[in-house]
Amino acid sequence: MGESLDELNERLKQTTDGQALLLEITQRIAAGGSLGAMLPDIINATLRVLHADGIRVVLNSPSGLMTYASGPSAGKMVKFDSLISSLAQEHGPFQIADLAQADKALAPLKKVISGVVALPLTAQYRVLGVLWIAYDNPPHFGADDTTFLSIVAGQTAVAVANARAFDEARRGREHLAAILSSSADPILVVDEQESLVLLNPAAERALGVEANAAIGKPIGEVINAEPLVELLRGSAETEGLEWQNELGQTFSPRVSDVLNDQNERTSRVLVLRDITRYRNLRDNQTEFVSTVSHDLRSPLTYMHGYATMLPMVGSLTEKQQGFADKIIAGIAQMTDLVDKILDASRLDPEGNYELNREPCDIAKMVSDIASSHQQPAEKKNLALSTQVDPAVPILNLDDVMLRRALNNLVDNAIKYTPEHGSVTIGAEVRDNNLVLTVSDTGLGISEENQKHLFERFRRVRRREHQAIKGNGLGLFIVKSVAQKHGGDAWIESKEGEGSTFAIRVPLEGPNLIGAEAHKTDGSIEKVAE
Ligand code: ADP
Repeated sequence: MGESLDELNERLKQTTDGQALLLEITQRIAAGGSLGAMLPDIINATLRVLHADGIRVVLNSPSGLMTYASGPSAGKMVKFDSLISSLAQEHGPFQIADLAQADKALAPLKKVISGVVALPLTAQYRVLGVLWIAYDNPPHFGADDTTFLSIVAGQTAVAVANARAFDEARRGREHLAAILSSSADPILVVDEQESLVLLNPAAERALGVEANAAIGKPIGEVINAEPLVELLRGSAETEGLEWQNELGQTFSPRVSDVLNDQNERTSRVLVLRDITRYRNLRDNQTEFVSTVSHDLRSPLTYMHGYATMLPMVGSLTEKQQGFADKIIAGIAQMTDLVDKILDASRLDPEGNYELNREPCDIAKMVSDIASSHQQPAEKKNLALSTQVDPAVPILNLDDVMLRRALNNLVDNAIKYTPEHGSVTIGAEVRDNNLVLTVSDTGLGISEENQKHLFERFRRVRRREHQAIKGNGLGLFIVKSVAQKHGGDAWIESKEGEGSTFAIRVPLEGPNLIGAEAHKTDGSIEKVAE
Protein backbone atom coordinates (compact mmCIF):
# COMPACT_ATOMS: atom_id res chain seq x y z
CA MET A 1 0.00 0.00 0.00
CA GLY A 2 1.20 3.55 -0.78
CA GLU A 3 1.19 6.27 1.88
CA SER A 4 -2.06 7.89 2.84
CA LEU A 5 -2.83 11.51 1.95
CA ASP A 6 -2.26 12.52 5.58
CA GLU A 7 1.14 10.86 5.61
CA LEU A 8 2.03 12.52 2.32
CA ASN A 9 0.92 15.90 3.66
CA GLU A 10 2.91 15.36 6.84
CA ARG A 11 6.06 14.43 4.83
CA LEU A 12 5.63 17.46 2.60
CA LYS A 13 5.23 19.70 5.61
CA GLN A 14 8.36 18.25 7.18
CA THR A 15 10.31 18.85 3.97
CA THR A 16 9.09 22.44 3.78
CA ASP A 17 9.86 23.02 7.47
CA GLY A 18 13.31 21.51 6.95
CA GLN A 19 14.04 23.79 4.02
CA ALA A 20 12.73 26.78 5.95
CA LEU A 21 15.08 25.87 8.82
CA LEU A 22 18.11 25.65 6.51
CA LEU A 23 17.15 28.99 4.99
CA GLU A 24 16.78 30.53 8.45
CA ILE A 25 20.19 29.22 9.53
CA THR A 26 21.82 30.50 6.32
CA GLN A 27 20.24 33.92 6.79
CA ARG A 28 21.38 34.01 10.39
CA ILE A 29 24.94 33.20 9.31
CA ALA A 30 24.80 35.91 6.65
CA ALA A 31 23.62 38.46 9.24
CA GLY A 32 26.88 37.78 11.11
CA GLY A 33 27.62 38.59 14.72
CA SER A 34 29.28 36.99 17.67
CA LEU A 35 28.95 33.37 18.77
CA GLY A 36 26.83 34.33 21.76
CA ALA A 37 24.33 36.14 19.52
CA MET A 38 24.22 33.71 16.60
CA LEU A 39 24.21 30.25 18.16
CA PRO A 40 21.11 30.57 20.43
CA ASP A 41 19.05 31.71 17.39
CA ILE A 42 20.15 28.68 15.39
CA ILE A 43 19.59 26.22 18.25
CA ASN A 44 16.11 27.58 19.01
CA ALA A 45 15.06 27.33 15.38
CA THR A 46 16.42 23.76 15.11
CA LEU A 47 14.65 22.69 18.31
CA ARG A 48 11.38 24.06 17.02
CA VAL A 49 11.55 22.41 13.59
CA LEU A 50 12.86 19.05 14.82
CA HIS A 51 10.28 18.88 17.65
CA ALA A 52 13.11 17.84 19.95
CA ASP A 53 13.06 18.02 23.76
CA GLY A 54 16.56 19.34 24.17
CA ILE A 55 19.47 20.47 22.04
CA ARG A 56 22.98 21.11 23.24
CA VAL A 57 25.97 22.42 21.32
CA VAL A 58 29.23 21.52 23.01
CA LEU A 59 32.25 23.36 21.59
CA ASN A 60 35.90 22.57 22.18
CA SER A 61 37.81 25.63 23.33
CA PRO A 62 41.24 26.13 24.84
CA SER A 63 39.62 26.86 28.21
CA GLY A 64 37.49 23.66 28.24
CA LEU A 65 34.04 22.93 26.79
CA MET A 66 31.72 25.82 25.87
CA THR A 67 28.02 24.97 25.77
CA TYR A 68 24.84 26.46 24.33
CA ALA A 69 21.48 24.77 24.93
CA SER A 70 17.74 25.00 24.44
CA GLY A 71 14.65 22.92 25.24
CA PRO A 72 13.00 21.54 28.39
CA SER A 73 15.39 18.55 28.67
CA ALA A 74 18.54 20.62 28.06
CA GLY A 75 19.28 20.99 31.79
CA LYS A 76 19.09 17.24 32.44
CA MET A 77 21.44 16.58 29.52
CA VAL A 78 24.31 18.68 30.91
CA LYS A 79 26.16 15.92 32.70
CA PHE A 80 26.40 13.86 29.51
CA ASP A 81 28.00 16.64 27.45
CA SER A 82 31.52 15.33 27.67
CA LEU A 83 30.54 11.67 27.20
CA ILE A 84 28.44 12.36 24.08
CA SER A 85 31.03 14.81 22.83
CA SER A 86 33.91 12.33 23.04
CA LEU A 87 31.81 9.47 21.54
CA ALA A 88 30.72 11.57 18.54
CA GLN A 89 34.14 13.05 17.97
CA GLU A 90 35.74 9.62 18.14
CA HIS A 91 33.22 7.53 16.19
CA GLY A 92 31.36 10.08 14.08
CA PRO A 93 27.62 10.85 14.10
CA PHE A 94 25.23 8.41 15.79
CA GLN A 95 21.51 8.05 16.49
CA ILE A 96 19.98 5.86 19.15
CA ALA A 97 16.21 5.72 18.88
CA ASP A 98 15.84 3.54 21.96
CA LEU A 99 18.42 4.03 24.66
CA ALA A 100 17.10 0.97 26.47
CA GLN A 101 18.92 -1.12 23.88
CA ALA A 102 22.10 0.98 24.02
CA ASP A 103 25.57 0.33 25.21
CA LYS A 104 26.27 0.20 28.95
CA ALA A 105 28.18 3.45 28.85
CA LEU A 106 24.98 5.24 27.89
CA ALA A 107 22.80 3.49 30.48
CA PRO A 108 22.57 6.48 32.88
CA LEU A 109 21.31 8.62 29.97
CA LYS A 110 18.19 6.54 29.52
CA LYS A 111 16.91 7.64 32.94
CA VAL A 112 16.76 11.16 31.52
CA ILE A 113 15.70 10.71 27.90
CA SER A 114 14.68 7.96 25.50
CA GLY A 115 16.50 8.74 22.24
CA VAL A 116 19.51 10.73 21.16
CA VAL A 117 21.14 12.04 17.97
CA ALA A 118 24.75 13.26 18.14
CA LEU A 119 26.47 15.06 15.27
CA PRO A 120 30.08 16.26 15.22
CA LEU A 121 30.46 19.86 14.05
CA THR A 122 33.21 19.96 11.42
CA ALA A 123 34.40 22.99 9.46
CA GLN A 124 37.55 23.28 7.35
CA TYR A 125 38.52 19.71 8.35
CA ARG A 126 38.53 20.64 12.03
CA VAL A 127 36.13 19.19 14.59
CA LEU A 128 34.79 22.18 16.47
CA GLY A 129 32.49 20.29 18.82
CA VAL A 130 29.22 18.35 18.86
CA LEU A 131 25.53 19.11 18.38
CA TRP A 132 23.35 16.64 20.27
CA ILE A 133 19.61 16.30 20.33
CA ALA A 134 17.46 14.51 22.89
CA TYR A 135 13.92 13.12 22.43
CA ASP A 136 11.45 11.85 24.99
CA ASN A 137 9.62 10.11 22.12
CA PRO A 138 12.17 9.55 19.41
CA PRO A 139 10.75 9.69 15.89
CA HIS A 140 11.79 7.17 13.32
CA PHE A 141 14.78 8.54 11.39
CA GLY A 142 14.93 7.61 7.74
CA ALA A 143 17.89 8.12 5.35
CA ASP A 144 16.53 11.56 4.31
CA ASP A 145 16.33 12.64 7.94
CA THR A 146 19.90 11.59 8.53
CA THR A 147 21.06 13.59 5.50
CA PHE A 148 19.00 16.55 6.63
CA LEU A 149 20.49 16.41 10.15
CA SER A 150 23.99 16.28 8.76
CA ILE A 151 23.24 19.40 6.69
CA VAL A 152 21.95 21.16 9.82
CA ALA A 153 25.15 20.13 11.64
CA GLY A 154 27.26 21.35 8.69
CA GLN A 155 25.49 24.72 8.69
CA THR A 156 25.81 25.03 12.45
CA ALA A 157 29.54 24.32 12.14
CA VAL A 158 29.85 27.07 9.51
CA ALA A 159 27.98 29.40 11.87
CA VAL A 160 30.42 28.56 14.68
CA ALA A 161 33.48 29.06 12.45
CA ASN A 162 32.14 32.38 11.14
CA ALA A 163 31.17 33.66 14.54
CA ARG A 164 34.60 32.73 15.93
CA ALA A 165 36.31 34.57 13.06
CA PHE A 166 34.01 37.54 13.75
CA ASP A 167 34.85 37.44 17.48
CA GLU A 168 38.54 37.18 16.73
CA ALA A 169 38.46 40.10 14.31
CA ARG A 170 36.50 42.19 16.82
CA ARG A 171 38.96 41.33 19.59
CA GLY A 172 41.81 42.28 17.24
CA ARG A 173 40.10 45.58 16.45
CA GLU A 174 39.41 46.29 20.13
CA HIS A 175 42.99 45.42 20.97
CA LEU A 176 44.30 47.76 18.29
CA ALA A 177 41.87 50.50 19.32
CA ALA A 178 43.03 50.17 22.95
CA ILE A 179 46.67 50.41 21.91
CA LEU A 180 45.99 53.38 19.66
CA SER A 181 43.95 55.26 22.20
CA SER A 182 46.45 54.63 25.00
CA SER A 183 49.38 55.69 22.82
CA ALA A 184 50.82 59.01 23.94
CA ASP A 185 52.04 59.52 20.37
CA PRO A 186 49.53 61.10 17.98
CA ILE A 187 48.56 58.63 15.22
CA LEU A 188 46.63 59.45 12.01
CA VAL A 189 45.56 57.08 9.25
CA VAL A 190 44.31 58.06 5.78
CA ASP A 191 42.86 55.86 3.02
CA GLU A 192 43.78 55.92 -0.68
CA GLN A 193 41.28 58.74 -1.24
CA GLU A 194 43.20 60.82 1.30
CA SER A 195 40.28 60.80 3.73
CA LEU A 196 40.96 60.49 7.43
CA VAL A 197 40.05 57.03 8.74
CA LEU A 198 41.60 57.18 12.18
CA LEU A 199 42.71 59.83 14.65
CA ASN A 200 43.66 58.74 18.16
CA PRO A 201 43.00 60.89 21.28
CA ALA A 202 46.66 62.04 21.38
CA ALA A 203 46.30 63.26 17.78
CA GLU A 204 43.03 65.03 18.67
CA ARG A 205 44.86 66.95 21.40
CA ALA A 206 48.00 67.68 19.37
CA LEU A 207 46.09 68.94 16.34
CA GLY A 208 43.11 70.47 18.13
CA VAL A 209 40.71 68.39 15.99
CA GLU A 210 37.78 66.23 17.11
CA ALA A 211 37.82 62.71 15.72
CA ASN A 212 34.03 62.55 15.31
CA ALA A 213 33.98 65.68 13.22
CA ALA A 214 37.06 64.84 11.17
CA ILE A 215 36.88 61.13 10.34
CA GLY A 216 35.72 60.41 6.81
CA LYS A 217 36.66 63.90 5.57
CA PRO A 218 39.54 64.81 3.21
CA ILE A 219 42.68 65.55 5.23
CA GLY A 220 43.22 68.88 3.48
CA GLU A 221 39.91 70.09 4.97
CA VAL A 222 40.32 68.91 8.55
CA ILE A 223 44.04 69.10 9.29
CA ASN A 224 45.35 72.58 9.66
CA ALA A 225 49.04 71.70 9.35
CA GLU A 226 50.29 71.76 5.78
CA PRO A 227 53.53 69.81 6.44
CA LEU A 228 51.56 66.92 7.96
CA VAL A 229 49.02 66.94 5.13
CA GLU A 230 51.90 66.69 2.65
CA LEU A 231 53.38 63.77 4.56
CA LEU A 232 50.01 61.98 4.57
CA ARG A 233 49.68 62.60 0.83
CA GLY A 234 53.12 61.10 0.33
CA SER A 235 54.43 64.30 -1.24
CA ALA A 236 57.10 65.01 1.40
CA GLU A 237 59.93 63.15 3.12
CA THR A 238 60.10 62.73 6.90
CA GLU A 239 63.89 62.54 7.03
CA GLY A 240 65.12 65.05 9.60
CA LEU A 241 61.74 66.79 9.88
CA GLU A 242 60.32 68.22 13.05
CA TRP A 243 56.86 69.72 13.46
CA GLN A 244 55.75 72.14 16.14
CA ASN A 245 52.10 72.58 17.06
CA GLU A 246 50.35 75.62 18.46
CA LEU A 247 50.85 74.37 22.02
CA GLY A 248 54.62 74.52 21.51
CA GLN A 249 55.09 70.76 21.41
CA THR A 250 57.69 69.39 19.01
CA PHE A 251 57.09 66.16 17.13
CA SER A 252 59.20 63.94 14.93
CA PRO A 253 56.92 62.53 12.19
CA ARG A 254 57.16 59.00 10.73
CA VAL A 255 55.02 57.83 7.81
CA SER A 256 54.46 54.29 6.60
CA ASP A 257 52.28 52.67 3.95
CA VAL A 258 49.83 49.86 4.70
CA LEU A 259 49.90 47.37 1.82
CA ASN A 260 47.44 44.64 0.85
CA ASP A 261 48.32 41.12 -0.40
CA GLN A 262 48.91 42.52 -3.89
CA ASN A 263 51.41 45.00 -2.46
CA GLU A 264 49.05 47.88 -3.21
CA ARG A 265 48.79 50.74 -0.75
CA THR A 266 45.49 50.73 1.10
CA SER A 267 46.24 53.41 3.65
CA ARG A 268 48.99 55.55 5.06
CA VAL A 269 49.85 55.91 8.76
CA LEU A 270 51.46 58.95 10.32
CA VAL A 271 52.92 58.63 13.81
CA LEU A 272 54.14 61.76 15.55
CA ARG A 273 56.73 61.09 18.23
CA ASP A 274 56.61 63.74 20.93
CA ILE A 275 60.20 64.97 21.29
CA THR A 276 59.40 68.16 23.22
CA ARG A 277 61.21 67.01 26.35
CA TYR A 278 64.20 65.81 24.39
CA ARG A 279 64.26 69.07 22.42
CA ASN A 280 64.22 71.12 25.64
CA LEU A 281 66.94 68.99 27.21
CA ARG A 282 69.03 69.30 24.09
CA ASP A 283 68.58 73.07 23.96
CA ASN A 284 69.45 73.35 27.66
CA GLN A 285 72.50 71.19 27.20
CA THR A 286 73.69 73.17 24.19
CA GLU A 287 73.17 76.38 26.12
CA PHE A 288 74.99 74.98 29.15
CA VAL A 289 77.96 73.80 27.09
CA SER A 290 78.25 77.08 25.28
CA THR A 291 77.92 79.20 28.47
CA VAL A 292 80.52 77.17 30.34
CA SER A 293 82.87 77.13 27.37
CA HIS A 294 82.58 80.88 26.90
CA ASP A 295 83.17 81.46 30.59
CA LEU A 296 86.27 79.26 30.48
CA ARG A 297 87.60 80.96 27.38
CA SER A 298 88.44 84.36 28.93
CA PRO A 299 90.34 83.13 32.04
CA LEU A 300 92.31 80.86 29.69
CA THR A 301 93.19 83.84 27.52
CA TYR A 302 94.63 85.90 30.39
CA MET A 303 96.34 82.88 31.97
CA HIS A 304 98.10 82.39 28.65
CA GLY A 305 98.96 86.10 28.53
CA TYR A 306 100.45 86.19 32.06
CA ALA A 307 102.31 82.90 31.62
CA THR A 308 103.98 84.12 28.44
CA MET A 309 104.85 87.43 30.15
CA LEU A 310 106.67 85.76 33.07
CA PRO A 311 110.17 86.14 31.52
CA MET A 312 109.48 89.87 31.07
CA VAL A 313 109.19 90.54 34.81
CA GLY A 314 112.46 88.91 35.77
CA SER A 315 114.78 86.34 34.34
CA LEU A 316 113.77 82.72 34.88
CA THR A 317 116.01 79.85 35.69
CA GLU A 318 116.04 77.02 33.17
CA LYS A 319 113.81 74.99 35.48
CA GLN A 320 111.35 77.87 35.93
CA GLN A 321 111.21 78.40 32.15
CA GLY A 322 110.57 74.67 31.72
CA PHE A 323 107.64 74.87 34.16
CA ALA A 324 106.28 78.00 32.45
CA ASP A 325 106.45 76.23 29.07
CA LYS A 326 104.50 73.31 30.50
CA ILE A 327 101.85 75.68 31.90
CA ILE A 328 101.60 77.42 28.50
CA ALA A 329 101.27 74.06 26.69
CA GLY A 330 98.56 72.99 29.16
CA ILE A 331 96.66 76.25 28.62
CA ALA A 332 96.95 75.85 24.83
CA GLN A 333 95.56 72.34 25.09
CA MET A 334 92.63 73.49 27.24
CA THR A 335 91.94 76.40 24.89
CA ASP A 336 91.92 74.00 21.94
CA LEU A 337 89.48 71.71 23.78
CA VAL A 338 87.15 74.57 24.76
CA ASP A 339 87.19 75.91 21.17
CA LYS A 340 86.43 72.48 19.75
CA ILE A 341 83.64 71.83 22.24
CA LEU A 342 82.10 75.16 21.23
CA ASP A 343 82.45 74.38 17.51
CA ALA A 344 81.15 70.83 17.90
CA SER A 345 78.08 71.92 19.88
CA ARG A 346 77.36 74.66 17.36
CA LEU A 347 77.67 72.25 14.46
CA ASP A 348 75.66 69.45 16.07
CA PRO A 349 73.61 67.85 13.26
CA GLU A 350 70.47 68.41 15.34
CA GLY A 351 71.31 71.98 16.28
CA ASN A 352 70.29 74.94 14.22
CA TYR A 353 73.57 76.61 13.45
CA GLU A 354 73.14 78.90 10.46
CA LEU A 355 76.23 79.33 8.31
CA ASN A 356 77.65 82.82 8.40
CA ARG A 357 78.32 83.16 4.69
CA GLU A 358 80.66 85.76 3.27
CA PRO A 359 82.91 86.02 0.20
CA CYS A 360 85.70 83.60 0.89
CA ASP A 361 89.11 83.62 -0.83
CA ILE A 362 90.27 80.00 -0.65
CA ALA A 363 93.79 80.75 -1.96
CA LYS A 364 94.29 83.27 0.87
CA MET A 365 92.84 80.86 3.40
CA VAL A 366 95.30 78.15 2.34
CA SER A 367 98.28 80.49 2.44
CA ASP A 368 97.28 81.93 5.87
CA ILE A 369 96.94 78.45 7.35
CA ALA A 370 100.25 77.34 5.82
CA SER A 371 102.03 80.38 7.33
CA SER A 372 100.57 79.87 10.78
CA HIS A 373 101.71 76.21 10.73
CA GLN A 374 105.18 76.89 9.35
CA GLN A 375 106.81 77.09 12.78
CA PRO A 376 105.29 73.91 14.28
CA ALA A 377 106.12 72.08 11.03
CA GLU A 378 109.74 73.24 11.14
CA LYS A 379 109.96 72.16 14.77
CA LYS A 380 109.32 68.61 13.58
CA ASN A 381 111.44 68.94 10.45
CA LEU A 382 108.40 68.60 8.22
CA ALA A 383 108.23 70.16 4.74
CA LEU A 384 104.95 72.11 4.55
CA SER A 385 103.83 73.15 1.06
CA THR A 386 100.67 74.31 -0.74
CA GLN A 387 99.19 73.59 -4.19
CA VAL A 388 96.32 75.88 -5.15
CA ASP A 389 94.56 75.56 -8.51
CA PRO A 390 94.12 79.10 -9.93
CA ALA A 391 90.64 78.05 -11.16
CA VAL A 392 89.32 78.06 -7.56
CA PRO A 393 86.82 80.96 -7.45
CA ILE A 394 85.85 83.26 -4.62
CA LEU A 395 82.93 81.54 -2.91
CA ASN A 396 80.11 82.38 -0.56
CA LEU A 397 81.07 80.23 2.45
CA ASP A 398 81.37 80.38 6.23
CA ASP A 399 84.99 81.56 6.17
CA VAL A 400 85.54 81.20 9.92
CA MET A 401 84.20 77.66 10.10
CA LEU A 402 85.95 76.49 6.95
CA ARG A 403 89.25 77.88 8.27
CA ARG A 404 88.70 75.99 11.53
CA ALA A 405 88.06 72.78 9.57
CA LEU A 406 91.14 73.14 7.37
CA ASN A 407 93.16 74.19 10.40
CA ASN A 408 92.16 70.99 12.22
CA LEU A 409 93.34 68.89 9.27
CA VAL A 410 96.71 70.66 9.07
CA ASP A 411 97.12 70.47 12.89
CA ASN A 412 96.51 66.72 12.67
CA ALA A 413 98.85 66.20 9.73
CA ILE A 414 101.65 67.89 11.65
CA LYS A 415 100.76 66.15 14.92
CA TYR A 416 100.57 62.65 13.46
CA THR A 417 103.42 62.75 10.90
CA PRO A 418 106.79 61.62 12.23
CA GLU A 419 109.90 63.85 11.80
CA HIS A 420 111.31 64.50 8.32
CA GLY A 421 108.05 63.87 6.52
CA SER A 422 106.02 66.30 4.46
CA VAL A 423 102.57 67.88 4.56
CA THR A 424 100.81 69.40 1.52
CA ILE A 425 97.71 71.59 1.56
CA GLY A 426 95.83 71.56 -1.74
CA ALA A 427 92.80 73.33 -3.24
CA GLU A 428 91.35 72.46 -6.65
CA VAL A 429 88.12 72.34 -8.66
CA ARG A 430 86.99 68.75 -9.28
CA ASP A 431 83.66 67.85 -11.00
CA ASN A 432 82.02 71.15 -10.05
CA ASN A 433 83.26 70.93 -6.46
CA LEU A 434 85.87 72.76 -4.51
CA VAL A 435 88.11 70.07 -3.01
CA LEU A 436 90.49 70.99 -0.20
CA THR A 437 93.06 68.33 0.65
CA VAL A 438 95.68 67.85 3.34
CA SER A 439 98.15 65.07 2.54
CA ASP A 440 100.89 63.78 4.78
CA THR A 441 103.57 61.12 4.78
CA GLY A 442 102.59 59.91 8.24
CA LEU A 443 101.62 56.50 9.53
CA GLY A 444 98.32 56.27 7.68
CA ILE A 445 95.13 54.73 9.06
CA SER A 446 93.83 51.19 8.55
CA GLU A 447 90.54 50.69 6.68
CA GLU A 448 88.86 49.43 9.84
CA ASN A 449 89.82 52.55 11.78
CA GLN A 450 88.81 54.87 8.93
CA LYS A 451 85.14 53.86 9.27
CA HIS A 452 84.37 55.78 12.47
CA LEU A 453 87.10 58.38 12.33
CA PHE A 454 84.77 61.33 11.68
CA GLU A 455 82.49 60.57 14.64
CA ARG A 456 82.62 62.60 17.85
CA PHE A 457 85.34 61.63 20.37
CA ARG A 458 86.91 58.99 18.11
CA ARG A 459 90.66 58.51 18.38
CA VAL A 460 92.74 55.75 16.88
CA ARG A 461 94.58 53.82 19.55
CA ARG A 462 98.13 53.15 18.47
CA ARG A 463 101.45 53.04 20.26
CA GLU A 464 103.05 55.76 18.11
CA HIS A 465 100.25 58.26 18.94
CA GLN A 466 100.15 57.63 22.68
CA ALA A 467 102.11 60.75 23.57
CA ILE A 468 100.08 62.97 21.21
CA LYS A 469 97.36 64.99 22.92
CA GLY A 470 93.91 65.20 21.36
CA ASN A 471 90.20 65.04 22.07
CA GLY A 472 88.66 63.29 19.05
CA LEU A 473 86.54 66.31 18.05
CA GLY A 474 88.60 67.75 15.19
CA LEU A 475 87.43 65.44 12.39
CA PHE A 476 83.80 65.60 13.54
CA ILE A 477 84.00 69.38 13.14
CA VAL A 478 85.64 68.98 9.70
CA LYS A 479 82.84 66.72 8.44
CA SER A 480 80.08 68.86 9.98
CA VAL A 481 81.42 72.02 8.34
CA ALA A 482 81.59 70.26 4.96
CA GLN A 483 78.07 68.88 5.34
CA LYS A 484 76.62 72.21 6.43
CA HIS A 485 77.89 73.53 3.08
CA GLY A 486 76.14 70.67 1.26
CA GLY A 487 79.37 68.72 0.81
CA ASP A 488 81.29 66.04 2.67
CA ALA A 489 84.66 65.06 4.13
CA TRP A 490 86.57 61.80 3.77
CA ILE A 491 89.95 60.17 4.07
CA GLU A 492 92.09 58.23 1.62
CA SER A 493 94.82 56.37 3.41
CA LYS A 494 96.89 53.22 3.46
CA GLU A 495 98.49 52.17 6.67
CA GLY A 496 102.18 53.02 6.60
CA GLU A 497 101.87 55.24 3.50
CA GLY A 498 100.42 58.46 4.86
CA SER A 499 96.93 59.93 4.53
CA THR A 500 94.99 62.46 2.49
CA PHE A 501 92.02 64.12 4.18
CA ALA A 502 89.61 65.92 1.86
CA ILE A 503 86.76 68.44 2.20
CA ARG A 504 84.35 68.81 -0.69
CA VAL A 505 82.11 71.86 -1.17
CA PRO A 506 79.76 71.84 -4.19
CA LEU A 507 80.10 74.81 -6.55
CA GLU A 508 76.37 75.43 -6.66
CA GLY A 509 73.38 76.99 -4.89
CA PRO A 510 74.11 79.29 -1.93
CA ASN A 511 77.86 78.44 -2.07
CA LEU A 512 78.12 80.64 -5.15
CA ILE A 513 78.38 84.38 -4.79
CA GLY A 514 75.10 86.07 -5.65
CA ALA A 515 72.91 82.99 -5.23
CA GLU A 516 69.82 83.32 -3.04
CA ALA A 517 70.07 81.34 0.20
CA HIS A 518 67.34 78.71 0.32
CA LYS A 519 65.34 78.91 3.50
CA THR A 520 62.77 76.46 4.78
CA ASP A 521 59.33 77.66 5.89
CA GLY A 522 58.81 78.48 9.54
CA SER A 523 56.71 75.58 10.74
CA ILE A 524 58.82 72.63 9.71
CA GLU A 525 62.54 72.70 9.46
CA LYS A 526 65.11 70.44 7.99
CA VAL A 527 67.64 70.07 10.77
CA ALA A 528 69.94 67.50 9.19
CA GLU A 529 71.52 67.78 5.78
P1 ADP B 1 92.28 64.35 17.85
O1 ADP B 1 93.38 64.60 16.87
O2 ADP B 1 92.02 65.51 18.74
O3 ADP B 1 92.43 63.07 18.58
P2 ADP B 1 90.57 64.23 15.52
O4 ADP B 1 89.11 64.07 15.43
O5 ADP B 1 91.18 65.40 14.87
O6 ADP B 1 90.91 64.19 17.07
O7 ADP B 1 91.25 62.93 14.94
C1 ADP B 1 90.76 61.65 15.29
C2 ADP B 1 91.83 60.60 15.22
O8 ADP B 1 92.20 60.38 13.85
C3 ADP B 1 93.14 61.01 15.87
O9 ADP B 1 93.10 60.66 17.25
C4 ADP B 1 94.15 60.19 15.13
O10 ADP B 1 94.24 58.91 15.70
C5 ADP B 1 93.55 60.05 13.74
N1 ADP B 1 94.15 60.98 12.80
C6 ADP B 1 93.70 62.20 12.44
N2 ADP B 1 94.49 62.76 11.51
C7 ADP B 1 95.45 61.88 11.24
C8 ADP B 1 96.58 61.86 10.34
N3 ADP B 1 96.84 62.90 9.55
N4 ADP B 1 97.36 60.75 10.33
C9 ADP B 1 97.08 59.71 11.12
N5 ADP B 1 96.05 59.66 11.99
C10 ADP B 1 95.25 60.73 12.05
